[in-house]
Amino acid sequence: MTPIKRTKSDHSLGLSTLQDISTLILQSHDLNETIRNIVDLVALRAHSDVCSLYLLENDQETLTLKATKGLEQSAIGTISMKIGEGLTGKVAAEKRILAFEEPQKHPDYQYFAESGEEQFHTFVGIPLFDHNHSIGVLVIQTLEPHTFSEEELATLSTIAFQVASIVVNARLLDAIDRYGQQETTAPATVAEVAGAELQQPNTFRGHAAYPGVVTGPANIIDQQFGFSDIFDECNIDPPAELKRLDEALRKTRIQTLYLEKRVAEQLTQEDAAIFHTHLMILEDRGFIDRLHELIEEQHSAPYALKKVISGYLEAFGKMEDPYLRERAADMEDIGRRLLANLVGKNTEGLQLHHSGILVAKRLLPSDMAILDHSMILGMVIESNEANSHSVIMAKALGIPAIIGVKGAVSKIKPDDNLILDANSGCIYQNPEQTIIDEYARLGQEGLKEKKRLSELRNIPPVTRNRQRIYLRANIGLVSDVSVAKKHGAEGVGLYRTEFPYMARSSFPDRQDQYLLYKKVVEDFAGTPVTIRTLDIGGDKALPYFTQPDEDNPFMGWRSVRVSLDNREIFQTQIEAILMAAYHGPIRLLFPMISNMDEIRTCKVIVNEAMENLRKEKIPFAEDIPLGAMIEVPAAVRLAPHLAKEVDFFALGTNDLIQYLLAADRSNPRVQKYYDPLHPAVLLSINGLVQATRENKVELCVCGEMATDPACLLALIGLGIHEFSLSAPYIPRLKNFINRVDTVAAEQLVQSLLLEADSSSIRKALDGAIRNLPVTDFSVVKPSIAN
Ligand code: PEP
Ligand code: MG
Repeated sequence: MTPIKRTKSDHSLGLSTLQDISTLILQSHDLNETIRNIVDLVALRAHSDVCSLYLLENDQETLTLKATKGLEQSAIGTISMKIGEGLTGKVAAEKRILAFEEPQKHPDYQYFAESGEEQFHTFVGIPLFDHNHSIGVLVIQTLEPHTFSEEELATLSTIAFQVASIVVNARLLDAIDRYGQQETTAPATVAEVAGAELQQPNTFRGHAAYPGVVTGPANIIDQQFGFSDIFDECNIDPPAELKRLDEALRKTRIQTLYLEKRVAEQLTQEDAAIFHTHLMILEDRGFIDRLHELIEEQHSAPYALKKVISGYLEAFGKMEDPYLRERAADMEDIGRRLLANLVGKNTEGLQLHHSGILVAKRLLPSDMAILDHSMILGMVIESNEANSHSVIMAKALGIPAIIGVKGAVSKIKPDDNLILDANSGCIYQNPEQTIIDEYARLGQEGLKEKKRLSELRNIPPVTRNRQRIYLRANIGLVSDVSVAKKHGAEGVGLYRTEFPYMARSSFPDRQDQYLLYKKVVEDFAGTPVTIRTLDIGGDKALPYFTQPDEDNPFMGWRSVRVSLDNREIFQTQIEAILMAAYHGPIRLLFPMISNMDEIRTCKVIVNEAMENLRKEKIPFAEDIPLGAMIEVPAAVRLAPHLAKEVDFFALGTNDLIQYLLAADRSNPRVQKYYDPLHPAVLLSINGLVQATRENKVELCVCGEMATDPACLLALIGLGIHEFSLSAPYIPRLKNFINRVDTVAAEQLVQSLLLEADSSSIRKALDGAIRNLPVTDFSVVKPSIAN
């Protein structure tokens, strides 16, 4: 784990161990050799007498010793135990790191004579996971008593993550081996996830991934994978094919580096990170060895590649985890680029000769990197992968996009005239004149509206009776910063830091985090940025961080609870935030506070972080405002007490509503119960507002609730004047706010607090909105310094 800075000593595990492991992966020839090297390395770096690796057998019940440094080598393959048996089995059963001094005194301790096990004084077991499924345990034992620091344990868990990835990869390759025995058909190139069917002869439907309406000629990207044209050949000259492969690999690696650089320049380093992964795959020994083997078995290099890639696609496609399933796109991308270099084709097919609406089965990250973005008016994609990197890039670039459009590539012809309505998810192919006219009219109105709204960019939101309102942005990725600024956000009310963590393969270290936060605050040049500490758990997982299997993850080990149980990680993040706050106005926010102890401990850790930075003579902000998220009903009731501990509150309506109404925020089946205008919600917020007024703390609403005008009116009527939301909503809401009178809104909402059901509340708010006067923003002059 990289955030280890403070207590790094010769004896601690650290970054170099991780780098060595990466190098080992690249240099090892098979799984056994790799894990042997890993146990040696970890034992050396951890100064432990034993490092052993146990893997779960196919029966999913038995753990078997697969590699060890320190125990008898003859024990490999013979020592095994069931999950739950002995200390190692206990680690797998409980899915968490367990560390014991004097392990033999533990009631669960089991002695295995075959191991030549001595009287070890320390035992540390780290579970290995593949996306929450146990796959094994890494065990460290020492003869001398040694207390492993939290930071060493955290490093061990990152190492365990890497070991787990290697094992998973090797198993994938095994699967590929098996598929390779059978005759492969042409690889599946398109996600078969159902999108909407073709409805009328020239109307398509799909899911809007990024809103907007555009008209233009179709630009079909029908890059067939190319492998369907590759057949096995006779009279192969393996040495010549190997040379051809090496040359293609070399070229593809250079191109990949170029793609990474280009995307980093055009978007962000995070968006470009995917190409780094591609590069690692292109250097992966297992991948290359498999290609070599097939060539040596008298197959041409392109055919060998076809077999290896289709095996990967098949294996990935069968995975239950949608994230992993979507990673098949990365394998496909790598395979296609490598094939182009093998057969001497370039990527010319992806050059756009005129601007238009892209129509593709699937756009791969490298496609997005190669294409000239200024020529992409909109995107129609057959696959339904909302989390794919290309869709993420489209959003970052503000390109209207519809995904899940089945049959688009075969039915839409080049230069067909298309209307893409990504607000409703509709695409019209060569539409009739009436539709063209209607969209032209809507387009004109839309353009005027857009122009009018963009003129509001630098005009602060004020109500009709001159009450200043603040609209800030919720951001996650760095690419959201430009979107936020484009829409006139006054700083950031909520920076969800878990998103940059999610895009990586290990925890970013303090310096990486500092640079990221510094960039964001500098980009906002003087307007405040509220940075929330890690809020993982619930529906947000980090691939390298072990989350327990919980029946009720939203009620479980999530958010600040995870941070408080991982103090090193927590303090590292806080230090990075404090350092960045030296460069601009940052506010530090703690999520999901549910009792006083939590917020007090958070403050103790802030003080410790400051103390540490002082010791290291690193400049930081001494006077950073601290805040608590109010998103658990208990926090609403505790608000008067919490107010004495912090400078501001951030009201997280997304969670507060789900906890108040016992309705999972992401479960469509209970969507009707998830009701922001439920009287209990309004009454709770009303209580919170009173508490903030009496105790003079600031309050900003940062849930999605404020994006709905009826809810926004209710919140303004409750006396709230600061909101943080998805930035594209800001211009429209500014316009709406300008029509609202806070006195009238307050009167209305006070009467609504007596209502018992939400339908009458919504009805009254909708009625009030219909009666709002249309105002002219031009009378409002002061501008936002942004
Ligand atoms: C919320 O809960 O309202 C909130 C803003 O946080 P998140 O959506 O990240 O849980
Ligand atoms: Mg929340």
